[in-house]
Amino acid sequence: MDFTLGELAAFDYRETAFRVLRLFLTDFTDAEIRAAVDSAYDGKFATDSRGLRRELSSDVAPLTSAAGLRFLELYHGPTLAFKDMALSILPRLMRLAAAKRGVSKRVMILTATSGDTGKAALAGFAGAEGVDIAVFYPSEGVSPAQKLQMTTQEGGNVAVAGIIGNFDDAQTGVKALFTDPDFVAEMSGRGYAFSSANSINIGRLVPQVAYYFHAYAEMCRAGALSPGERLGFTVPTGNFGNILAAYYAGRIGLPIGKLVCASNSNKVLFDYFKTGEYNTNRVFTPTASPSMDILVSSNFERYLYHKTGSAEAVRAAMGGLGAEGRYVLPDSGEVFFGEYATEPETFAAIRDVFGGGALIDPHTAVAVHACREYRAETGDDTPNVIVATASPFKFAASVLEAVTGAAPEVSGVSGAIEELSRVTGVPAPASLLELQGKRVLHPDVIEKDGMEAFVRAFASRRNY
Ligand SMILES: *Cc1c(COP(=O)(O)O)cnc(C)c1O
Repeated sequence: MDFTLGELAAFDYRETAFRVLRLFLTDFTDAEIRAAVDSAYDGKFATDSRGLRRELSSDVAPLTSAAGLRFLELYHGPTLAFKDMALSILPRLMRLAAAKRGVSKRVMILTATSGDTGKAALAGFAGAEGVDIAVFYPSEGVSPAQKLQMTTQEGGNVAVAGIIGNFDDAQTGVKALFTDPDFVAEMSGRGYAFSSANSINIGRLVPQVAYYFHAYAEMCRAGALSPGERLGFTVPTGNFGNILAAYYAGRIGLPIGKLVCASNSNKVLFDYFKTGEYNTNRVFTPTASPSMDILVSSNFERYLYHKTGSAEAVRAAMGGLGAEGRYVLPDSGEVFFGEYATEPETFAAIRDVFGGGALIDPHTAVAVHACREYRAETGDDTPNVIVATASPFKFAASVLEAVTGAAPEVSGVSGAIEELSRVTGVPAPASLLELQGKRVLHPDVIEKDGMEAFVRAFASRRNY
């Protein structure tokens, strides 16, 4: 890091993003990075529906407070979840990188999504020159609003399919396509190179590092922190990408406190941090926080490498994961602390925070519960910011049930959204209200072993 924390406290979001990105993207010029940042973090982050009360300043990623907690709101982008923070800028960075490397092939982006990455990637890449994108989501594993956001996506270069399976199946399937030499050669013969919009692409993680610096700056501006003091975060975690970005922020010089890794009932990571054993041999449980319904957290592999410094140790662990669905590699607990919330605890957190003046989504609610548990268990009173990852209106039926105490008697995606807005007095985002009237352009639901054929058919349709 080549700026002081005192200087950081004066940066706005774009300046922070520029200063952080240039530390990682050393093949890019400052002018290129600045242009990418300026075009990514512009008016499209001006979603005016505020789930949480906006007490403190800011534009792209406001810091707010309610119920004695502080929130970093990362869901004011075009698709209303934090995935926009990276996927608004990734297409630009990839275009620049392709030009620099002289890549002449057309790029086929394969994406597995637990609900939010898919739409954010579609929004980022729809209509992009030289790029086609295929998205796979668990057909029964996303919220109705998430599903409609994806299946109504327009653009000639996009394809979307539900798979009969869960997110782990989708992610495993996509990784298998990337590493199948025959399929790679076949697609190469058609003029395609593969790429990813998932967090296996480091271009997803780097832009996410920036908002941890931004949160720190906002805390300083709010007078809640002095430059140099530690700041902890609680991150609702699925694939371990968001929280890993916080870890990277610490590695390059941000004084981070404990990173509380918040899981829902699929608490593989909680058990890991308690016991040192990562064990996926358990029942996959669909929850009200579907974007965290994940047993194999892809980015955990990266962390294992950083903590052991040994590719050999990581290979052995991943070998165990593949063969037995488990491995043992204890953690020091120096950086991360695992917590989790059950469904009743998640709903109670939504209700309680609403009583405290803010409307939060179920993923954020998992983090609220985790943050409180962490504090109660450890007595650590270092300032801690909860990362708010999605608009509550993307999960309107669950949030409505939590707030009113009864399952909602409304129909359709708009029904729950409008009712939630009526009951809470919080305006619903227009882009979600418009979904109901849109035509479903991508009705396909396929078997999980049908992904290769789906991509092949898409490429043929593109006539490439
Ligand atoms: C993707 C997502 C998460 C989990 O983030 P990871 O980087 O996969 O750990 C949490 N909340 C929401 C709303 C998400 O979309």
